[in-house]
Amino acid sequence: MPMPARSSSGDTMAEAAGRESIVERPGYHSPQVEVAVRLNTNESPEAPSDGFMAELAEIARALKANRYPDREARALREAIGASHGLPADHVACGNGSNEVLLCLLLAYGGPGRTAVVFEPTYALHRHIAELSHTAVATGERGGGFEIELEPARRLLAEHRPGLVFCCSPNNPTGNSEDEEVLAGLAEAAAPGLLVVDEAYGHLSPSSATSLFAAHENVVVVRTFSKVWALAGLRLGYLLADPAVVAACERTSLPYHLGTFTQAAGLAALGRSGEMEARAARLVAERQRLAAALSSRAVESWPSAANFILFRPRHLGAKEVWEGLLARSVLVRDVSSFPRLEGCLRVTVGTREEDDAFLAALDEVLGGAR
Ligand code: PMP
Repeated sequence: MPMPARSSSGDTMAEAAGRESIVERPGYHSPQVEVAVRLNTNESPEAPSDGFMAELAEIARALKANRYPDREARALREAIGASHGLPADHVACGNGSNEVLLCLLLAYGGPGRTAVVFEPTYALHRHIAELSHTAVATGERGGGFEIELEPARRLLAEHRPGLVFCCSPNNPTGNSEDEEVLAGLAEAAAPGLLVVDEAYGHLSPSSATSLFAAHENVVVVRTFSKVWALAGLRLGYLLADPAVVAACERTSLPYHLGTFTQAAGLAALGRSGEMEARAARLVAERQRLAAALSSRAVESWPSAANFILFRPRHLGAKEVWEGLLARSVLVRDVSSFPRLEGCLRVTVGTREEDDAFLAALDEVLGGAR
């Protein structure tokens, strides 16, 4: 391997070039280890249908790989918009919703600006804000992890943030916010944006999409990584006022969304029935898993998403996480998240995977109730 070049001070160029605030930050990762039962990243346990995979093969065969993609991703944006009853100029796409969040922060955050998050929540909101040098102000949640409007209003009045992040259903707690709360937040955030991350929105009884008519500052972020079963494809999008879409497009790189991804997204939208059926199976399995957890020595919280937050009553999170891993079951240790001491998060898997998880959990808990 070639040696890194050295600067006159003797430091390697790599050391000299890295911004301290970036070099010193921990990354954001869930361990990717080889296990039999992987329930740590909220993916769909079911793969897409054979019919869809055959369509993807056709798309690959016909791909004009020597040509750049449609820079505006017009057909995909039209189809996504239509699925929500909106025109294409209300839609911006990215390689996963994380990239969409980055574009939003580049456009509306930055030095001298503030983003608000309500902890505990999806750690990437804070992480990307900090990467973009956006200050972060932290709000609290109520006993069921819901956002409480009055303290939220006071916080927003104090900080006047450029963006307010609200994850609904919230990762990793699983609760979704009522539409009245979302409307109250939208009003209090204006003229800043209320960014409602609905990565698990298909499973939720409420959605901020109902607020578009009354609130121009509402942005809804969605992904194909969960109930669409396409996490490996990397496709996410936002729905917002055309001015917000235009601002995000100025921050995204030219041709960032590949031709294959655009066509695959279109093909997936043509099979929304398959997605709905998968979502229904997932909700039934979540109910079964929640019921099973409620009879064990853990505290668990109701979920409107494809995962469940739980806290072992008599053992520490790390001990249980390691015990499960030793039995080839991987869950997410969220005990270092603010206010989630002792907690773990399990993704709803297939019936067989969830049974394997429960059997391993019983062994680790040692029969304690
Ligand atoms: N938002 C939330 C709340 C998530 O949980 C995730 C995935 N864990 C994402 C966004 C990112 O999803 P992706 O980049 O795969 O679209």
